[in-house]
Amino acid sequence: MSLQQISPRVHVEVANLGSNNSIITGSDGLALVDTPHRPSDAIAWRHVADGFGRTRFVVNTDHHPDHTIGNFWQGGEVVAHRGTRERLLHDAPSDQYLHDLMARIDPEALPLMAEYSVRVPEVVFSERLELHLGDVHLELTFQPGHTANSLIAYLPQDRVVFTGDIVCEAGLPSFQDSRLWNWFDAIDAVAAYDFEVLVPGHGEVADRTVLEQYRAQGREVVAEVAAAIAAGHESAQACDEIRFPDNIHVDTEDYVGYPDELCEVFQRRSIARIYEDLLERPDLSTR
Ligand SMILES: [Zn+2]
Repeated sequence: MSLQQISPRVHVEVANLGSNNSIITGSDGLALVDTPHRPSDAIAWRHVADGFGRTRFVVNTDHHPDHTIGNFWQGGEVVAHRGTRERLLHDAPSDQYLHDLMARIDPEALPLMAEYSVRVPEVVFSERLELHLGDVHLELTFQPGHTANSLIAYLPQDRVVFTGDIVCEAGLPSFQDSRLWNWFDAIDAVAAYDFEVLVPGHGEVADRTVLEQYRAQGREVVAEVAAAIAAGHESAQACDEIRFPDNIHVDTEDYVGYPDELCEVFQRRSIARIYEDLLERPDLSTR
């Protein structure tokens, strides 16, 4: 654990395997943004949060397991876009998938998975929602981007924006649930906020400069896929040829990451997604 205080009311943990996890402290309780991927980290996180006060809300920026598995071990009400609830109700990872994944990334927690069940959001919204914590409030805004059901959370009192995987400092996430047009629009939407500090979905806490860095990484892979299309390569061939750096699912100093086969699946699905979207909207190759 390496909890950092990044503003008067916000603490962030960026060292967990999986998503960044935040605690927002108001005069009347806490809101958490995204929950740890590994059950061991999720249980430790509950203790950290309890040390700050009573958790009232747990916000999920999207439905992916690395942002939502830890919901099970937190207090409060889980809040998300309605599409996140739908995805978790209908396409949550199977018990077998989770068992195999945890056997690798959190073997000591395997017994904990016996009690685990997916905890879907209890409170959902379509466009906007405010969560009030006494002296501060968090503004949640639907913003399709990394997924069709992503959101941006904003704490105006501290000028902190939480982007989920709409922006990742660590590099590109999987594109498998993204549509390319939303993906770039979402970066623009983040840029329109009045913020000083940006808490990305993965990687170090950043400032505004991360937006252009991230956009450039996206453009690079999109340009490669566009070049493959221009050269007449089929989607499957583009998926064989093109790779982008994965700094999100791989091993870190402290953690064992996803198995190579799974990282490979994410890459292929991401390239296939971009390929298909570029066929529909070739203009996006130069966005
Ligand atoms: Zn993520």
